[in-house]
Amino acid sequence: MRKPLVAGNWKMNGSRESAQSLVAGIKEGLASAVAAEVAICPPFVYLSEVKSLLEGSEVALGAQNVSHRGNGAFTGEISTSMLLDVGCKYVILGHSERRALYGETDVLVAEKLIAINAAGLKPILCVGELLEERESGKTEAVVARQLDVLLNSVEGLAALQNTVIAYEPVWAIGTGMTATPQQAQDVHAFIRQRVAAKDAALAEKMRILYGGSVKGSNAAELFAKADIDGGLIGGASLQVEEFLTICQAAAN
Ligand code: PEP
Repeated sequence: MRKPLVAGNWKMNGSRESAQSLVAGIKEGLASAVAAEVAICPPFVYLSEVKSLLEGSEVALGAQNVSHRGNGAFTGEISTSMLLDVGCKYVILGHSERRALYGETDVLVAEKLIAINAAGLKPILCVGELLEERESGKTEAVVARQLDVLLNSVEGLAALQNTVIAYEPVWAIGTGMTATPQQAQDVHAFIRQRVAAKDAALAEKMRILYGGSVKGSNAAELFAKADIDGGLIGGASLQVEEFLTICQAAAN
Protein backbone atom coordinates (compact mmCIF):
# COMPACT_ATOMS: atom_id res chain seq x y z
CA MET A 1 0.00 0.00 0.00
CA ARG A 2 1.49 3.34 -1.06
CA LYS A 3 0.96 6.19 1.40
CA PRO A 4 -0.33 9.22 -0.52
CA LEU A 5 1.80 12.36 -0.54
CA VAL A 6 0.67 15.93 -1.08
CA ALA A 7 3.54 18.36 -1.62
CA GLY A 8 2.99 22.11 -1.85
CA ASN A 9 5.33 23.97 -4.20
CA TRP A 10 5.23 27.63 -3.18
CA LYS A 11 7.50 28.56 -6.10
CA MET A 12 8.90 32.13 -5.85
CA ASN A 13 5.99 33.42 -3.77
CA GLY A 14 5.40 34.75 -0.31
CA SER A 15 7.04 36.61 2.50
CA ARG A 16 7.96 35.82 6.10
CA GLU A 17 4.54 37.01 7.12
CA SER A 18 2.60 34.94 4.60
CA ALA A 19 4.74 31.87 5.38
CA GLN A 20 3.84 32.22 9.06
CA SER A 21 0.12 32.41 8.44
CA LEU A 22 0.14 29.63 5.84
CA VAL A 23 2.02 27.26 8.13
CA ALA A 24 -0.18 28.13 11.09
CA GLY A 25 -3.31 27.42 9.04
CA ILE A 26 -1.97 24.14 7.66
CA LYS A 27 -0.87 22.95 11.10
CA GLU A 28 -4.21 23.75 12.61
CA GLY A 29 -6.13 22.14 9.76
CA LEU A 30 -4.07 18.97 9.82
CA ALA A 31 -4.27 18.60 13.59
CA SER A 32 -6.69 15.71 13.19
CA ALA A 33 -3.84 13.77 11.50
CA VAL A 34 -4.72 12.82 7.93
CA ALA A 35 -3.69 9.48 6.48
CA ALA A 36 -1.59 11.18 3.83
CA GLU A 37 1.93 12.52 4.08
CA VAL A 38 2.12 16.28 3.60
CA ALA A 39 5.16 18.34 2.61
CA ILE A 40 5.67 22.01 1.86
CA CYS A 41 8.43 23.43 -0.31
CA PRO A 42 9.01 27.14 0.35
CA PRO A 43 11.69 29.29 -1.31
CA PHE A 44 15.22 28.63 0.03
CA VAL A 45 15.35 31.75 2.18
CA TYR A 46 12.35 30.67 4.22
CA LEU A 47 13.33 27.02 4.74
CA SER A 48 14.84 27.45 8.21
CA GLU A 49 12.01 29.58 9.48
CA VAL A 50 9.35 27.26 8.05
CA LYS A 51 11.16 24.31 9.65
CA SER A 52 10.86 26.00 13.06
CA LEU A 53 7.23 26.89 12.42
CA LEU A 54 6.46 23.26 11.53
CA GLU A 55 7.74 22.00 14.86
CA GLY A 56 5.21 19.74 16.54
CA SER A 57 3.58 18.75 13.25
CA GLU A 58 4.14 15.83 10.89
CA VAL A 59 4.44 18.10 7.85
CA ALA A 60 7.74 17.56 6.04
CA LEU A 61 9.94 20.25 4.55
CA GLY A 62 11.14 20.25 0.96
CA ALA A 63 13.23 22.48 -1.30
CA GLN A 64 12.42 23.47 -4.87
CA ASN A 65 15.86 22.93 -6.37
CA VAL A 66 19.45 22.07 -5.46
CA SER A 67 22.89 22.02 -7.01
CA HIS A 68 24.30 18.68 -8.14
CA ARG A 69 27.72 19.77 -6.83
CA GLY A 70 29.20 19.54 -3.35
CA ASN A 71 30.02 22.67 -1.31
CA GLY A 72 32.56 24.95 -2.95
CA ALA A 73 33.05 27.93 -5.24
CA PHE A 74 29.62 27.93 -6.92
CA THR A 75 28.23 31.42 -6.33
CA GLY A 76 24.50 31.54 -5.86
CA GLU A 77 24.02 27.78 -5.54
CA ILE A 78 22.66 25.67 -2.67
CA SER A 79 24.03 22.21 -1.84
CA THR A 80 22.33 19.03 -0.67
CA SER A 81 24.23 19.20 2.64
CA MET A 82 22.80 22.68 3.27
CA LEU A 83 19.28 21.39 2.67
CA LEU A 84 19.88 18.54 5.11
CA ASP A 85 21.32 21.00 7.59
CA VAL A 86 18.11 23.05 7.65
CA GLY A 87 15.90 19.97 8.00
CA CYS A 88 14.69 19.23 4.47
CA LYS A 89 13.40 15.79 3.59
CA TYR A 90 12.35 16.31 -0.04
CA VAL A 91 13.76 18.16 -3.05
CA ILE A 92 11.71 18.94 -6.16
CA LEU A 93 13.74 18.62 -9.35
CA GLY A 94 13.17 18.66 -13.06
CA HIS A 95 10.22 21.03 -12.70
CA SER A 96 9.13 22.25 -16.13
CA GLU A 97 9.85 25.85 -15.11
CA ARG A 98 13.46 24.90 -14.44
CA ARG A 99 13.70 22.90 -17.63
CA ALA A 100 12.15 25.68 -19.76
CA LEU A 101 13.44 28.85 -18.08
CA TYR A 102 16.82 27.71 -16.73
CA GLY A 103 17.84 25.23 -19.40
CA GLU A 104 17.92 22.14 -17.18
CA THR A 105 18.44 19.09 -19.36
CA ASP A 106 17.52 15.45 -18.72
CA VAL A 107 21.19 14.77 -18.02
CA LEU A 108 21.53 17.58 -15.46
CA VAL A 109 18.28 16.49 -13.81
CA ALA A 110 19.66 12.95 -13.56
CA GLU A 111 22.90 14.26 -11.98
CA LYS A 112 20.85 16.23 -9.45
CA LEU A 113 18.68 13.23 -8.64
CA ILE A 114 21.70 11.06 -7.98
CA ALA A 115 23.24 13.76 -5.75
CA ILE A 116 19.99 14.26 -3.83
CA ASN A 117 19.66 10.54 -3.19
CA ALA A 118 23.32 10.18 -2.21
CA ALA A 119 22.83 12.89 0.41
CA GLY A 120 19.92 11.04 2.00
CA LEU A 121 17.26 13.43 0.73
CA LYS A 122 14.20 12.27 -1.22
CA PRO A 123 13.84 13.50 -4.80
CA ILE A 124 10.47 14.53 -6.23
CA LEU A 125 11.21 14.17 -9.93
CA CYS A 126 8.91 16.09 -12.29
CA VAL A 127 8.25 14.79 -15.78
CA GLY A 128 5.67 15.83 -18.35
CA GLU A 129 4.95 16.90 -21.90
CA LEU A 130 4.27 20.23 -23.60
CA LEU A 131 0.88 20.85 -25.20
CA GLU A 132 2.24 20.45 -28.73
CA GLU A 133 3.86 17.18 -27.71
CA ARG A 134 0.53 15.87 -26.39
CA GLU A 135 -1.29 17.07 -29.48
CA SER A 136 1.16 15.31 -31.75
CA GLY A 137 0.87 12.04 -29.82
CA LYS A 138 4.31 12.26 -28.21
CA THR A 139 3.35 12.23 -24.53
CA GLU A 140 4.64 8.74 -23.81
CA ALA A 141 7.82 9.27 -25.84
CA VAL A 142 8.64 12.46 -23.91
CA VAL A 143 7.98 10.96 -20.50
CA ALA A 144 9.93 7.83 -21.47
CA ARG A 145 12.91 9.97 -22.53
CA GLN A 146 12.83 11.88 -19.23
CA LEU A 147 12.76 8.62 -17.24
CA ASP A 148 15.08 6.48 -19.33
CA VAL A 149 18.14 8.57 -18.61
CA LEU A 150 17.78 7.31 -15.04
CA LEU A 151 16.30 3.87 -15.66
CA ASN A 152 19.13 2.97 -18.00
CA SER A 153 21.96 3.74 -15.60
CA VAL A 154 22.94 1.70 -12.55
CA GLU A 155 23.32 4.80 -10.37
CA GLY A 156 20.09 6.29 -11.69
CA LEU A 157 18.08 3.15 -11.05
CA ALA A 158 19.51 2.95 -7.53
CA ALA A 159 18.53 6.57 -6.86
CA LEU A 160 15.02 5.97 -8.17
CA GLN A 161 14.46 3.53 -5.27
CA ASN A 162 14.05 6.57 -3.09
CA THR A 163 12.28 8.83 -5.55
CA VAL A 164 8.75 10.17 -5.85
CA ILE A 165 7.74 10.93 -9.44
CA ALA A 166 5.43 13.83 -10.24
CA TYR A 167 3.70 13.65 -13.60
CA GLU A 168 3.05 17.27 -14.53
CA PRO A 169 1.72 17.94 -18.02
CA VAL A 170 3.30 21.32 -18.77
CA TRP A 171 0.09 22.63 -20.34
CA ALA A 172 -1.73 22.07 -17.05
CA ILE A 173 0.75 23.88 -14.77
CA GLY A 174 -0.62 27.16 -13.50
CA THR A 175 -3.11 27.34 -16.39
CA GLY A 176 -6.28 26.14 -14.68
CA MET A 177 -6.41 23.40 -17.38
CA THR A 178 -6.24 20.14 -15.44
CA ALA A 179 -5.68 16.79 -17.14
CA THR A 180 -8.79 14.67 -16.87
CA PRO A 181 -8.47 11.91 -14.28
CA GLN A 182 -8.30 9.37 -17.13
CA GLN A 183 -5.62 11.32 -19.05
CA ALA A 184 -3.55 11.48 -15.87
CA GLN A 185 -4.17 7.83 -14.98
CA ASP A 186 -3.07 6.72 -18.45
CA VAL A 187 0.30 8.45 -18.11
CA HIS A 188 0.75 7.31 -14.51
CA ALA A 189 0.12 3.72 -15.59
CA PHE A 190 2.63 4.18 -18.42
CA ILE A 191 5.25 5.48 -15.97
CA ARG A 192 4.66 2.57 -13.61
CA GLN A 193 4.97 0.07 -16.46
CA ARG A 194 8.15 1.72 -17.69
CA VAL A 195 9.69 1.42 -14.21
CA ALA A 196 8.33 -2.14 -13.84
CA ALA A 197 10.17 -3.21 -16.97
CA LYS A 198 13.41 -2.53 -15.05
CA ASP A 199 12.32 -3.27 -11.49
CA ALA A 200 8.84 -4.61 -10.71
CA ALA A 201 9.15 -4.21 -6.95
CA LEU A 202 10.20 -0.57 -7.33
CA ALA A 203 7.26 0.14 -9.64
CA GLU A 204 4.85 -1.28 -7.09
CA LYS A 205 6.13 0.85 -4.21
CA MET A 206 6.94 4.05 -6.13
CA ARG A 207 4.63 6.99 -5.45
CA ILE A 208 3.57 8.85 -8.59
CA LEU A 209 1.96 12.24 -7.94
CA TYR A 210 -0.11 14.25 -10.36
CA GLY A 211 0.56 17.99 -10.70
CA GLY A 212 -1.14 20.60 -12.84
CA SER A 213 -3.89 22.90 -11.59
CA VAL A 214 -5.00 20.56 -8.79
CA LYS A 215 -7.62 22.29 -6.65
CA GLY A 216 -9.89 21.38 -3.78
CA SER A 217 -12.65 20.80 -6.32
CA ASN A 218 -10.85 18.30 -8.58
CA ALA A 219 -8.42 16.55 -6.22
CA ALA A 220 -10.70 13.73 -5.09
CA GLU A 221 -11.48 12.45 -8.59
CA LEU A 222 -7.82 12.57 -9.59
CA PHE A 223 -6.63 10.82 -6.44
CA ALA A 224 -9.31 8.12 -6.85
CA LYS A 225 -7.38 6.72 -9.83
CA ALA A 226 -5.39 3.56 -9.19
CA ASP A 227 -1.95 4.91 -10.11
CA ILE A 228 -2.27 8.45 -8.71
CA ASP A 229 -0.68 8.55 -5.27
CA GLY A 230 -1.22 12.19 -4.37
CA GLY A 231 -0.32 15.56 -5.85
CA LEU A 232 2.30 18.21 -6.38
CA ILE A 233 0.40 21.42 -5.83
CA GLY A 234 1.44 24.89 -6.99
CA GLY A 235 -1.06 27.74 -6.78
CA ALA A 236 -3.51 25.99 -4.50
CA SER A 237 -0.78 25.33 -1.92
CA LEU A 238 -0.75 29.07 -1.19
CA GLN A 239 -4.34 28.99 0.06
CA VAL A 240 -4.89 27.23 3.36
CA GLU A 241 -8.44 25.98 2.76
CA GLU A 242 -7.70 24.75 -0.76
CA PHE A 243 -4.54 22.98 0.34
CA LEU A 244 -6.27 21.33 3.29
CA THR A 245 -9.11 20.11 1.08
CA ILE A 246 -6.53 18.56 -1.24
CA CYS A 247 -4.73 16.89 1.68
CA GLN A 248 -8.04 15.51 2.90
CA ALA A 249 -8.86 14.18 -0.57
CA ALA A 250 -5.53 12.34 -0.64
CA ALA A 251 -6.16 10.85 2.77
CA ASN A 252 -9.54 9.46 1.81
C1 PEP B 1 3.57 23.04 -10.03
O1 PEP B 1 4.14 24.10 -10.09
O2 PEP B 1 4.21 22.02 -9.79
C2 PEP B 1 2.12 23.02 -10.22
C3 PEP B 1 1.55 21.85 -10.36
O3 PEP B 1 1.48 24.23 -10.26
P1 PEP B 1 -0.11 24.47 -10.28
O4 PEP B 1 -0.73 23.57 -9.24
O5 PEP B 1 -0.27 25.91 -9.96
O6 PEP B 1 -0.59 24.11 -11.65
